[in-house]
Amino acid sequence: MPGDGVHRVVVVGGGFGGLQAVEKLRRAPVEVTLVDRRNFHLFQPLSYQVATGALSPGEIAYPLRAIFKRAANVRVMMAEVAGFDLGARELQLRSVAGVPVPATLPYDSLIVAGGSQYSYFGHEEWREYAAEVKSLESALLVRGRILAAFEAAEFEPDPERRAAWLTFVVVGGGPTGVEMAGQIGELARDTLKRDFRAIDSRTGRILLVEATDRLLTTFPPKLSSRAKRSLERLGVTPMLNTTVTDIEADAVTVEAAGGGSQRIPTRTIIWAAGVTASRMAATLGELTGAELDRAGRIAVEPDLTLPGHPEVFALGDMVRVRQTDGSVVTLPGVAPAAMQQGRYAAKVIEARLGGRSTGPFHYRDKGNLATIGRGSAVADIKGLKLSGFLAWMTWLLIHLWYLVGFQNRIVVFVRWSFSFFTHGRGARLITAQAMERPSDHHAA
Ligand SMILES: Cc1cc2nc3c(=O)[nH]c(=O)nc-3n(C[C@H](O)[C@H](O)[C@H](O)COP(=O)(O)OP(=O)(O)OC[C@H]3O[C@@H](n4cnc5c(N)ncnc54)[C@H](O)[C@@H]3O)c2cc1C
Repeated sequence: MPGDGVHRVVVVGGGFGGLQAVEKLRRAPVEVTLVDRRNFHLFQPLSYQVATGALSPGEIAYPLRAIFKRAANVRVMMAEVAGFDLGARELQLRSVAGVPVPATLPYDSLIVAGGSQYSYFGHEEWREYAAEVKSLESALLVRGRILAAFEAAEFEPDPERRAAWLTFVVVGGGPTGVEMAGQIGELARDTLKRDFRAIDSRTGRILLVEATDRLLTTFPPKLSSRAKRSLERLGVTPMLNTTVTDIEADAVTVEAAGGGSQRIPTRTIIWAAGVTASRMAATLGELTGAELDRAGRIAVEPDLTLPGHPEVFALGDMVRVRQTDGSVVTLPGVAPAAMQQGRYAAKVIEARLGGRSTGPFHYRDKGNLATIGRGSAVADIKGLKLSGFLAWMTWLLIHLWYLVGFQNRIVVFVRWSFSFFTHGRGARLITAQAMERPSDHHAA
């Protein structure tokens, strides 16, 4: 393992934050080990496009080894971090996919960027029926379930059961929920409209359930209204002020704010509501006494280190940041926040090695973007509020720019251009993940 007196930096997580930290350290006089339980970086902002057959997995994921193949001071290790010994400055590792790994990994500086996962508001049993699109595996599961629902409807003689197959419920009206609902709308109204004989895919119902009184609550209200109108044009029904109270294999039960419960028969439910921090945040909280909020995020110091451990940084979706006045702020759970923090942590390590000091971390808000469908998006960039085609072009260019891997950018650009003109979606494949539906499984 790296050593020989060279400063050893271990970065946990090859997501947005971790990747930027390693990028910045590749020319620094340090040995870097990047540990991730996956062997690839996933561009999560486009995973919903995999879930709806617009893109293939390889176009939004890139092998970590390939990213750092020319960085001689960077080693990539596929392993899961199972624990921390902060006193001994060691990580405890667990093997993934049968790949043997050392039990421990020593460090001089540690950067932890483990991200977040979806939470089911204390109803873990809902996860089985309502898949999410945060990981590549679950995006493929969702893709299979959506496409298989149309297949099932085509040969279902009973009108009620057919209607259930053609009802798609997306839970959560944030950017991911809006994007997912818009894409299912396009799939039903446009892409699949000539593919079936017995059913008209355009009759599919797409319900977007949101507990608050508007979609995209992090955007200005004007853009929320525009997003709602654009979704309605795609055949999506936003159900505002509505809370999900139960999820079963073949139905969702919702309750409107004014009372009144409704059971909606459906066979496809997609979860896009509420995230909780990586479990590593809780572990680090227990070890350092740093406070955790309700979403499990750990409060880090103004320089992103843990209390009492200036050699340990935590960042990205799993943290909140203490300000110099003592207050703790929650930054938006978006890629730019994690990326800026990753670069900042690397800068602090480099500065310390050079005997320089650095100021606290400052977040630069680059704005908010969400796409709704073909040629339609909303953008709020430094007070500039855009919607429609211009916002969509902005969204498209920004996502292409940040997509990792030169080859991926070209492939995605060609795919999007082709789909734009042909209204097609090349990756409409039902793969192994979706072969077993939860209800089949219970019936067995
Ligand atoms: C569906 C979806 C759409 C999104 N769309 C947008 C968008 O349009 N724009 C935007 O700015 N943001 C978007 N986001 C949010 C954005 O993806 C996150 O804010 C960002 O990924 C956070 O970066 P991170 O480095 O904290 O974590 P992540 O990027 O999630 O990376 C965490 C990494 O840590 C690894 N890891 C976790 N635990 C362990 C462990 N114990 N051992 C080893 N490795 C571990 C994971 O495998 C992963 O690679 C979206 C998120 C989702 C889920």
